[in-house]
Amino acid sequence: MAEVLYQRASRMPRHSLYSLSVSSLGKLNEEDPPPQRSPLEKLTIEMCQDEQTIKELVVGRRIGFYKVRGEIGSGTFSRVKMAFHALTKDKVAIKVLDKTRLDVKAQKLLSRETSCMEALQHANIVRLYEVVESHSRLYLVLEYAGGGDLHTQICSEGRLSETEAKLTFAQVLSAIKHMHDRNIIHRDLKAENVLYACNGCVKVADFGFSTRVTNGNDMLDTFCGSPHYAAPELFKDKCYMGPPVDVWAMGVLLLFMVTGTMPFRSDTMGKLKLAIIQGAYTLPEWVSEPCQRLICGILKRIPEERYAVDQMVGCDWLLPVEYPWTGITAVPLSPLHLADAEPSELNDEEKEVKASLEELGVTMEHIRQNQGKGSHSPISGLYNIILHRTQKRRGTETVPVVRGLVRDQKRESLRAYRGLIHSSKLCVVQ
Ligand code: ATP
Ligand code: MG
Repeated sequence: MAEVLYQRASRMPRHSLYSLSVSSLGKLNEEDPPPQRSPLEKLTIEMCQDEQTIKELVVGRRIGFYKVRGEIGSGTFSRVKMAFHALTKDKVAIKVLDKTRLDVKAQKLLSRETSCMEALQHANIVRLYEVVESHSRLYLVLEYAGGGDLHTQICSEGRLSETEAKLTFAQVLSAIKHMHDRNIIHRDLKAENVLYACNGCVKVADFGFSTRVTNGNDMLDTFCGSPHYAAPELFKDKCYMGPPVDVWAMGVLLLFMVTGTMPFRSDTMGKLKLAIIQGAYTLPEWVSEPCQRLICGILKRIPEERYAVDQMVGCDWLLPVEYPWTGITAVPLSPLHLADAEPSELNDEEKEVKASLEELGVTMEHIRQNQGKGSHSPISGLYNIILHRTQKRRGTETVPVVRGLVRDQKRESLRAYRGLIHSSKLCVVQ
């Protein structure tokens, strides 16, 4: 039996649960009554023995424990599919990357994408649940953000009202603060990478150009992201500091949200570069004064003069925003603590997660064996999905509210910016 499991496994994406030992599947003796299998055991056996399931795995209708449904997006480097977890039934997005098309530089970026995402756990950042790898492909299993992206929304419905912009911007800012506090720089912030979950909660996505620094003053030298969102120093200097580059992109994003147009536009790259270096943009007078002050504080040509994230958090314009999730503590990224802690040491949320895992057949032995695998394991995938679901049920991902303001539903129909997608680029700053 173990032989069969290993032989079949070798043809499919590397998945450590394929190698469940015979003992962990229970003894098979013809006289014994059929053993009671847990959902996890049943699925594992199905993936190794059921011809239909194996066929689906081979043709890509299944990726690891996920049943693929259809394509939901594509980017410069990837195709993104919607899928369900076969056990929990949770919807996920799977970003598929062709490893054979990635040169050394792209491979480095990809490993940064996964390691940065693994380190982040925030209501406004798309979660990475699991990484599945085959010989030629890498699959990033992500939280599904089914409410579309900000770019498409503005292009089809026009600019946001200031209240809507405030709510969206506050969530992007909260996400960026979380990243910068952990020395992670996004480097590709743009409206196309700001997604919405089905409940309207903002989700910053696409960590394909993200990087880690040792501190905010570290110098970087790779030009990343969309030129329309690029800070002037990216065009002028050989090196740049990470945090101010994300801050500048947030200024471009904010102006785009409240006006429906981009601050720096041009028909050629040369003219666009010049416009950004000169830093000249116009703000319609109907943009409120506190919002104008914030944009002016962000879109400063000299990075050292630009607002820092904490100044943005404390600005007048965002003062009425109430964040529902402040005070929520980070949960361990690995389930190991569930196996090792005494029941009395676990809080209610952890107990709930542990019980759900056990119900599916995840034993504490699986969890111990999972140690050190990061997100490259189906047990981590299950843990991350169940943990996130539990957190959401406990209300950690409600949309913030604006104190004292009635939601403005009126939408203007400014459609000047329809159809223009800002493709991201990578090169060394010269
Ligand atoms: P690019 O660099 O061109 O922006 P990329 O290859 O890095 O693209 P992503 O931006 O991560 O890929 O994803 C491409 C598209 O797939 C997104 O614009 C979005 O429409 C969709 N998408 C990505 N992640 C998710 C998600 N978690 N939920 C729903 N849709 C998603
Ligand atoms: Mg993208």
